[in-house]
Amino acid sequence: MNRKLTEQYEKLGISAEVYQFGEKTEQALTERFEKIDRTAEFNQLKVIKAMQEQKVSAECFHTSSGYGYNDYGRDTLENVYASCFCAQDALVRPQITCGTHALALALMSNVRPGDEIFSPVGKPYDTLEEVIGIRPSKGSLAEYGVTYRQADLKKDGSFDYDAIRQAVNARTRLVTIQRSKGYATRPTLSVARIGELISFIKSIKPDVICMVDNCYGEFVEEEEPTQVGADMVVGSLIKNPGGGLAPIGGYIAGKKECVENAAYRLTSPGLGKEVGASLGVIQSFYQGLFLAPTVVSGALKGAIFAANIYEKLGFEVFPNGTEERYDIIQAVTFGNPDMLTAFCEGIQAAAPVDSYVTPEPWAMPGYDSDVIMAAGAFVQGSSIELSADGPLRPPYAVYFQGGLTWYHAKLGILKTLQKLKDRNLVKLC
Ligand SMILES: *Cc1c(COP(=O)(O)O)cnc(C)c1O
Repeated sequence: MNRKLTEQYEKLGISAEVYQFGEKTEQALTERFEKIDRTAEFNQLKVIKAMQEQKVSAECFHTSSGYGYNDYGRDTLENVYASCFCAQDALVRPQITCGTHALALALMSNVRPGDEIFSPVGKPYDTLEEVIGIRPSKGSLAEYGVTYRQADLKKDGSFDYDAIRQAVNARTRLVTIQRSKGYATRPTLSVARIGELISFIKSIKPDVICMVDNCYGEFVEEEEPTQVGADMVVGSLIKNPGGGLAPIGGYIAGKKECVENAAYRLTSPGLGKEVGASLGVIQSFYQGLFLAPTVVSGALKGAIFAANIYEKLGFEVFPNGTEERYDIIQAVTFGNPDMLTAFCEGIQAAAPVDSYVTPEPWAMPGYDSDVIMAAGAFVQGSSIELSADGPLRPPYAVYFQGGLTWYHAKLGILKTLQKLKDRNLVKLC
């Protein structure tokens, strides 16, 4: 037992008992953590290689304003992203405001009236329902005469190949595949499974565009979906690839034509990638991408650590303590509102920012019950930083993700445990 470290934790309100419980749990995870470190090492080399190949130089960090013509740093960064994702081209911009915007852009620019979008993995992420028009919404694709179809996963989480074969038709133009489960209760897809799905779909219709919603999945594995046949991968820079440093932004990487279409929609027909000033944020995009593999590894360790802690205490955790990981999200089912609240208070209390505030359940648009959220982030809403949320309704599950460093994620989880213990909601065994 490391006395000085125990004392340091005590200064942050973690009792020796809770600390010991964490240490025991962590010791059993040595092998898994080593495997995560290997993946991070691989991906770190991938990023460095891409930066070297594209000759990133100090000149790349200059800013541009106005039209942003000939922004060398922006254009080089897009080549770096293309390299990292083994794609022909990429669009990486601060003008893409969030993940939903990046996905809307990729979808809306690559379909035309009369086309159909198809999801072979069930319902897409909540916010995309309004983009597509599954829930009627102003400006949705449905309003432009683009239809939507979906095939649900089978009960065991496998692809329903018969339903997929039946769904693909002459109008199917784009297939959208969500890698992460998001806040649904299906398994997250590995890159290998995404590859199998794309092969099957392309065997039915070779010219269909396969787009992967890559949110929360970047750098979790050594390969990205573009390496197994995806025509486009799309994501947010305030999640994995921004490494916690990007203050805004989104990306689309993939086939030249898909990226070009997206660029003409983001700016204007005729202008495309030529305009779009970088306004001084581009250096943080480079540095964030550089750090992303290690940041993602810290978040993964945090998720696995929490799964094992709460599994030991008898709670249902998803994914479970031993499962292979394909994204950074962890769910813990408490079945009790006080526990859910205590957990979120613990995450908040461990934050470097706003640690002194107490999160409270709140009515959120789109939810039929109050939601409690904990986040003490440097970048508003950044979910690569340690954060947790959950709706105040049965089964009282908390979803949490992120942690810019493993040590912060660990402190956050120990703090949740301390809160639960102090209120006699759990007994350490
Ligand atoms: C976060 C997320 C989105 C949307 O991103 P925002 O930045 O919140 O708009 C879409 N799909 C998945 C799977 C996500 O995790």
